[in-house]
Amino acid sequence: MKKHLQHPIFKIITQAAENLQVDAYVVGGFVRDIFLERISKDADIVTIGSGIELAKEAAKLAKISPPKVFKNFGTAMLQYKDWEIEFVGARKESYRKDSRKPIVENGSLEDDQNRRDFTINALAINLGTQHYGELLDPFNGLQDLHDSIIRTPRDPAITFSDDPLRMMRAIRFATQLDFSISAETFEGIRKSADRISIISKERIMDEMNKIILSNKPSKGFILLHQSGLMKLIFPEFEALRGTEYVDGKGHKDNFYHTLEVLDKLSQKTDNLWLRWAAILHDIAKPATKRYEPETGWTFHSHEFVGAKMVPRIFRRFKLPVNEKMKFVQKLVQLHLRPIALTEENVTDSAIRRLLFEAGDDIDDLMMLCEADITSKNPRKVKRYLRNFKMVRRKLQEVEEKDRIRNWEPPISGDIIIKTFDIKPGPKVGEIKTAIREAILDGEVEHDFKKAFRFMLKIGKDKGLDAQLDLHDFNDQMLHWYKKKDQQQTELPNGSNNKKIQE
Ligand code: ATP
Ligand code: MG
Repeated sequence: MKKHLQHPIFKIITQAAENLQVDAYVVGGFVRDIFLERISKDADIVTIGSGIELAKEAAKLAKISPPKVFKNFGTAMLQYKDWEIEFVGARKESYRKDSRKPIVENGSLEDDQNRRDFTINALAINLGTQHYGELLDPFNGLQDLHDSIIRTPRDPAITFSDDPLRMMRAIRFATQLDFSISAETFEGIRKSADRISIISKERIMDEMNKIILSNKPSKGFILLHQSGLMKLIFPEFEALRGTEYVDGKGHKDNFYHTLEVLDKLSQKTDNLWLRWAAILHDIAKPATKRYEPETGWTFHSHEFVGAKMVPRIFRRFKLPVNEKMKFVQKLVQLHLRPIALTEENVTDSAIRRLLFEAGDDIDDLMMLCEADITSKNPRKVKRYLRNFKMVRRKLQEVEEKDRIRNWEPPISGDIIIKTFDIKPGPKVGEIKTAIREAILDGEVEHDFKKAFRFMLKIGKDKGLDAQLDLHDFNDQMLHWYKKKDQQQTELPNGSNNKKIQE
């Protein structure tokens, strides 16, 4: 054991504890990870005394800056090179029924180990001079580590009722470490599942995201379902379960389908938000499901309805409602489009439109679509993958030709206003849209001069007279107009018009 405490900081803590005449132990995740051969640079130190004083003494001996002290929690944090060491006095916790916040008293090491969530997280190593390196394992955590088992140290009913977040943590550790949850502990989760309601969405989502970021997230999702937690925290996902039959025809179980997509995608990317897109890509299937006697089961528009559900779900989960959410939303909405492009006679304009709409997220979209192939027929899988390869090639060809990815239409609203000497208003928007559509459809080339001539034609059709022509726009002016247009599109609705008139 001593060889795992080679880092000089441990010797320093031992000396500091001796100076203060207190006992000190390294506990929890750090000790567990030694046995799992995972290298950790976070360590938790428990002392039978004041954690804050011990941290201060250790900082002094190590000649480093004093610890960050969290008085309310009675804890202190030392930064030693790239290590983070947290100090706390051993404590005893008692809980009331209605709150996650325990009544905390000073306690013994045993009290402290008793309040820990799982046997594998309750291991401690003595840092005292006399007993340096001795392992204290009151609940046989070492055996559970060896057997890959998650188990609560005490009666699961008490452990989970005291702090229901531990139910999420049990499933998170089982998923991350690929452990199983002991039958008794799992039964405890099933019985206490309702108590999850007192835990904040942020904390639930922290655990959820750790499940999603593990190697095989499906394991955690299945445990969440089996424990009864899924229907409480994520009913939309629970609703994906099951197969309905009409006239002997069934549809696939979208719960397992989605998990297969998520696992497959997780082999390819660590991007949490791309993984969220997999989780949500079919989320509106239950809401859009119909049985049509001629065609069988359909899920018309589930990609649009699903995209609409994304903000609601993100807001409820307290996930970031920003560009990350927009990314997920975009992928959900576009996830069927590449399939439509696999047909033989697909036009350049269809490809160009998808590039325009997906922008820089096109590669992530393709990755999602490839993971979405979950057919059990290897010949079909091969064919689909070959088709997607072809789509990727076409996307690349069109992109090289037209550079549509981060596209800015060549004619700004300002140019339209100046050319026809008109006031800002719906006409300007109509002309702008007409130009954009014509370019996307391939009727007009993506080039300023060609687009300008097209604008004159549209204007004429609308009965507008051009006051300026092509020669009135030199490069510098164009640059200026574009910049101005960009600034204006960022302004909130309504304030644009005023700005232009000034
Ligand atoms: P990781 O850092 O990988 O999330 P960890 O086990 O270190 O895993 P932390 O949240 O850092 O988890 O907690 C450190 C230790 O504190 C745990 O090993 C456990 O002993 C204890 N602990 C943390 N949260 C709880 C909890 N909700 N209930 C009981 N003990 C807990
Ligand atoms: Mg930790």
